[in-house]
Amino acid sequence: MDLIKIGRFIADCRKEKEITQEQLAEKLYITDRAVSKWERGLSLPDADKMLELCNILDVSVNELLNGEKIMQEDYERKTEELLVEFTKKDEEKDKQLFTNMWVLLISTFIFYITILILGAITLGEGIPFGIITVVSTIIFVCVGFYALKIEVDIGYYECRKCYHKFKPSYLTALIAPHAHTTRYLKCPECGKRTMAKKVLK
Ligand SMILES: [Zn+2]
Repeated sequence: MDLIKIGRFIADCRKEKEITQEQLAEKLYITDRAVSKWERGLSLPDADKMLELCNILDVSVNELLNGEKIMQEDYERKTEELLVEFTKKDEEKDKQLFTNMWVLLISTFIFYITILILGAITLGEGIPFGIITVVSTIIFVCVGFYALKIEVDIGYYECRKCYHKFKPSYLTALIAPHAHTTRYLKCPECGKRTMAKKVLK
């Protein structure tokens, strides 16, 4: 998506309607700084302002996001291009989140083990070491739950038998035996238990 082009298009449409940035901002209950940012291509209108903005400027959301008026015969193609672009963005975001989750989990695990070993060496048995063990275990378990939540939230698990994609509950995912992101889960479609594969799409 070309923010500069979109910004220019918003500015052109606004001028065509003979309204100032201030007037447009007032109609949308936002600051004129926000409007100026859109027009300079620094940001996109929020989803909840998009429809109203299009109404005021007398353009479609499709045209706004393409940054140009669209001929009737190009409409379908342009819409599809936009949809593909949005889907790609979502997938990239999911992949990034998934990677971050693994980095967080692994570094927490290393931190946890290091603390335990260092604690055991320097403090020996006793109350301080006990406290450190409990606190670091709590942190590790919390991060573990958080990672599990992200893993379940993103994408689906795919049944190995019928290729049905599904989302288990957090509890089901938690108690399911797993290897990496493959979990032994019961498929709600065919009822078979398989090592369901994590798929992001
Ligand atoms: Zn199945």
